[in-house]
Amino acid sequence: MSFDDLKAALRGEVITAADGGYADHRAKMIWNGRKPDAQPVAIVRARTVADVQTTIAFAARRGISVSPRGTGHNFSGIALQDGIVLDLSALNQIEIDSGAGIAVVGPTACNDVLAERLAEAGFAFPVGHCASVSLSGYLLGGGFGWNSGEWGMACHSVDSADVVLADGRLVSASAAENPELFWALRGGGPLFPGVVVRYRLRLQKLRRGMIMAIRSYPIERIDEVSRWMQGVMAVAPDGVEFTVILHSAPPPVADPSVKLVTAIPTVFAESDADAQEALEGIALWAPADPLNAVGPIPATYGSLYAGSDQANPVGARYLAEAVWSDEPRRLFRIMADAVARAPSAASYAVGSQLPARSFASRPLPDSAFSMAGSGFGALYGIWDDPAQDAANTAWLRAAADAMSPVTRGHYVGEADLARPERLAQCYAPEAWARLQTVRGCYDPTGLFRRASSTSAAPLAIAAE
Ligand SMILES: Cc1cc2nc3c(=O)[nH]c(=O)nc-3n(C[C@H](O)[C@H](O)[C@H](O)COP(=O)(O)OP(=O)(O)OC[C@H]3O[C@@H](n4cnc5c(N)ncnc54)[C@H](O)[C@@H]3O)c2cc1C
Repeated sequence: MSFDDLKAALRGEVITAADGGYADHRAKMIWNGRKPDAQPVAIVRARTVADVQTTIAFAARRGISVSPRGTGHNFSGIALQDGIVLDLSALNQIEIDSGAGIAVVGPTACNDVLAERLAEAGFAFPVGHCASVSLSGYLLGGGFGWNSGEWGMACHSVDSADVVLADGRLVSASAAENPELFWALRGGGPLFPGVVVRYRLRLQKLRRGMIMAIRSYPIERIDEVSRWMQGVMAVAPDGVEFTVILHSAPPPVADPSVKLVTAIPTVFAESDADAQEALEGIALWAPADPLNAVGPIPATYGSLYAGSDQANPVGARYLAEAVWSDEPRRLFRIMADAVARAPSAASYAVGSQLPARSFASRPLPDSAFSMAGSGFGALYGIWDDPAQDAANTAWLRAAADAMSPVTRGHYVGEADLARPERLAQCYAPEAWARLQTVRGCYDPTGLFRRASSTSAAPLAIAAE
């Protein structure tokens, strides 16, 4: 079978390296403006599950590796590999079974669309914090989303999934069917040995009371703000999500050297009154004399996404690092120092302390997602000029190294996966070993060759 035969066999599109428009399609596979060097032999834009099966069977016969692609949002650009890139972006349907409290979704349903459809039906899900990211890789990596402190990592709300295996077979993965595949699906991220073509998600009841507040302080006051956050989260109701953003002062402040820490408590509660009461309790303990205080602001998923999308301009160049820590206050201080020295004013960091009774304080469900801490920190290098790649990369990696004494492990969804040691650091050692075994079992020839199956060798990612 040739690529022409494959084109004829699919409902979707096949763009080979020889086709017009290839360079454009290739660039669009990755959301980050900083693209990997990989040159796939073809990009297959699947329209149906059958397209996915046919493509995988074709690739297996020809000995070509396959890299599934959700919406290409992984900051490390790992969906773009040599071989065939299997673009799943057309598989984005959403069906809600209200009676069962289950949503059946295509892998590339996006956070904002899912949140809105669920809210209309009176449901919610720990969707990710930015609108256009698809569930595809978000759920595979773990999924640290809105109200995850109460609802847990999103992957642990996956009831089952349909998966195309390396031999083209379509199977179900759940606690009862192919349980090892299901184990790997919940957190295995880029190491998952198959292509997820459908998720079944267990839903939460929509929280009718959603409310937030915003307070900014000079970044030098990070310790005070962290103490406030830590005190609040020790006693707060489970539905409180408390985030600090470390960033440059926005316009009209013209001086990019002015840095702020902005504290954003967001409450998810049964009613407006409950949410209001929780937020008032939080505000009581806030450090005095903020530069700016806004709220309480009633929130919807739409307004939450409008805020988060502003921080992540489309087309910019990105490098990210994300860690779990059991010493969040020390972590946030190191991140504040790093942001104060960032070569690009657009770069920022996010710190979050989980509620006292969150998933991080209990044994994690038996799944590949095996690395967590009571605090989470992510650093985002954002710049426009390719000539600044080296300076920004050096800055972010030095900051990550400075964070390492208080880092328990990394989060695969936003880690700097080009660093050779990083992928293994996203898993507990026993889970890392088990992932290799599951990969060997379900993908013995390494069709989904996104990482070494036997070592912590890096994925083939963007040349720096
Ligand atoms: C602006 C922005 C905001 C973000 N916010 C959050 C957040 O709030 N919480 C959070 O947890 N993460 C967040 N992330 C990280 C994001 O969830 C992960 O990077 C995730 O991998 C992106 O999903 P994707 O489908 O675009 O993955 P891609 O980049 O397309 O793929 C990532 C990896 O997963 C594999 N993969 C993707 N889909 C499939 C599939 N269906 N079957 C098998 N393998 C597959 C790919 O082969 C690749 O190795 C954010 C990222 C960005 C850019």
